[in-house]
Amino acid sequence: MKKHNFYAGPSILSEFTIKNTAAAVENFADMGLSILEVSHRSKEFVAVMDEARALIKELLDLPAGYEVVFLGGGASMQFCMVPYNLLSKKAAYLDTGTWASKAIKEAKLFGEVDVVASSKDKNYTYIPKGYTVPEDVDYFHITTNNTIYGTEIREDLDVKARLVADMSSDIFSRPIDASKYDLIYAGAQKNLAPAGVTLVIVRTDALGHVDRPIPTMLNYKTHIEKDSMFNTPPVLPIYSALQTLKWYKAQGGIAAMEKKDKENAAILYDEIDRNKLFRGTVVPEDRSIMNVCFVMNDEYKELEGEFNTFAASKGIVGIKGHRSVGGFRASLYNAMPKSSVEVLIDAMKEFEKQH
Ligand code: PMP
Repeated sequence: MKKHNFYAGPSILSEFTIKNTAAAVENFADMGLSILEVSHRSKEFVAVMDEARALIKELLDLPAGYEVVFLGGGASMQFCMVPYNLLSKKAAYLDTGTWASKAIKEAKLFGEVDVVASSKDKNYTYIPKGYTVPEDVDYFHITTNNTIYGTEIREDLDVKARLVADMSSDIFSRPIDASKYDLIYAGAQKNLAPAGVTLVIVRTDALGHVDRPIPTMLNYKTHIEKDSMFNTPPVLPIYSALQTLKWYKAQGGIAAMEKKDKENAAILYDEIDRNKLFRGTVVPEDRSIMNVCFVMNDEYKELEGEFNTFAASKGIVGIKGHRSVGGFRASLYNAMPKSSVEVLIDAMKEFEKQH
């Protein structure tokens, strides 16, 4: 039976990505070798790396002065690499959830951290507003999409300080004005590739302003200067990333992704709002179009397990909510077809009729 994949990450990838990756595992670039067994310095793989970086620049319309690097260590490594490279005295952070809190914890090892606002008081069900970012900070860090809580900042903020964004779970889901950011990072395992590689986009003139010595591997400059080949890069995820990027381009680019993502999210939120059994957990204006979080209304709470089983019988996988929110989370990343969202909506309707 066809599975409808709503996992939060690692998560659904396009069929194009999976088929081409599988083919390269058998025979990469007609070399008669698997991509798993060729040198990262072979001209064939260097071409993959170059094309992937060029396509990211093209799809996100990066202005001059920005570099794209592929690193290991997950987005979590960026929680410390960012302050290592950018924090001299003080940084500002917006606390919008678990991942933001983890980034804050690491930054405190490197300097003063000003948490300008937090939505922890309401279990991160909204994006704080009306805060001010001090002008004397080295940077302001935001998490654009809060994967666990289902809130999202879908605009490019205007701040005087350098802006750093963790876009792990919503990169490529809308066109961005990259010039507003000094650094963007994203673990690959949502909208790009299998886990194992992290995308970093950095404005080069944001670097070189801290006095502390930076270990070679943790210094962005190392990876920029060596074109992400200072050490052996995660070749397979980078190959897959290139396939996803090609697929985005063929689909009409990031604007086309945004249109589809918004439609998918809109029909699901409409059903959550209509259906007597369910309610969304996030204030409507901050609802994420990537991670849709919802719970059962109090009078139907005991049906939660039953709905999970019912959904599974329809081939729906990965909708169990994160333990910090409970209920359900349907992740609607770029590769999610509308037909799968419709299967989930039909299941919700059918289950409502039964109760
Ligand atoms: N930031 C966000 C927004 C995430 O969703 C995640 C993981 N789901 C991370 C950071 C951590 O990523 P990683 O597991 O690649 O370290």
